[in-house]
Amino acid sequence: MNNNIDISIIVPLYNEEEVFSLLIERLTNVIDSCKFNCEVILVNDGSSDDTAQLIEGICKKNPRFTGVLLSRNHGHQLAVTAGMAHVRGKKGAMIIDGDLQDPPELVKEFYELLNDGYDVIYAIRKNRKESLLKRIAYKYYYRLQKRISSFNIPIDSGDFSMLSRRVVDAMNAMPEQSRYLRGMRAWVGYKQIGYEYDRDERQEGESKYGWRKLFELAFNGIFNFSDFPVRMIAKVGLVTILLSICYLLYILFRKVFFGDVPEGFTATIAAIILFSGVQLLSLGLIGEYVLRIYNQVRNRPLYVVDKLIQEGIEKADNN
Ligand code: UDP
Ligand code: MG
Repeated sequence: MNNNIDISIIVPLYNEEEVFSLLIERLTNVIDSCKFNCEVILVNDGSSDDTAQLIEGICKKNPRFTGVLLSRNHGHQLAVTAGMAHVRGKKGAMIIDGDLQDPPELVKEFYELLNDGYDVIYAIRKNRKESLLKRIAYKYYYRLQKRISSFNIPIDSGDFSMLSRRVVDAMNAMPEQSRYLRGMRAWVGYKQIGYEYDRDERQEGESKYGWRKLFELAFNGIFNFSDFPVRMIAKVGLVTILLSICYLLYILFRKVFFGDVPEGFTATIAAIILFSGVQLLSLGLIGEYVLRIYNQVRNRPLYVVDKLIQEGIEKADNN
């Protein structure tokens, strides 16, 4: 088949029958008015309503729509991952939410930035329309993550983004099981730029991200991209040992010079505080091995090469 698709727009959908017709209308208008060629990849994430049938319907009617129907609900991140595996766009892909919180019309602006040489254009939410509690949670979570992650993950940006073809390929080549796409996207590197936008309200239906799913996502973001929690154990252990040694010296000093420490107290307290420090430190050391095993089995590529210049010729290096 002759593939002349430039951009694939990936839309994960979980029980979105209420917003579906509006979504298709907006998407159709966008792709019809673009000067470049777009396909839309609709991923049904095991919906229990009529979303799957609606997707089949539109895909049979309009060849610019592709449907990827998952066997059950696998969660948003995996739904997008499934969409990414089917990208045919030669220039790259755009990821948007199905509830129209992310305006699909931005594909044009993003595409221009892609042509300006950016590999990742990630949308930054200027303001949010979620509940106050969620807004506070998001705000501090992203700031915490930025502080403790091993490399720079931009704050206040979700999965709404455009990715160049080579970024899509690089992310598809990362075999990790628990996927935190906005972290993986940052990990790949290349030239990345933020694009500020006002996040709209969900057009129809209710958020499919309850607190449980949000926490799962947050944990993936922290444990997949930060060594901080494990390394913290050993540090706390070391500090405990140092402090307890100081305290013991102080008690010994009082016992010898003032004699006001009760019999048996020194040995008991020594056993408790010193050994809890030693235990924490040992746990931290084991943690360090676990961390290394984790890094090894996650099997990420070690690095991504941007350019290779060989015999005076610039080559793209995609191995
Ligand atoms: N979604 C999905 N699988 C899920 C949960 C959500 O594919 O298990 C989709 C959902 O249909 C929507 C997008 O992911 O298109 C974002 O979800 P939602 O709008 O509920 O999240 P929020 O905007 O509240 O964070
Ligand atoms: Mg939403």
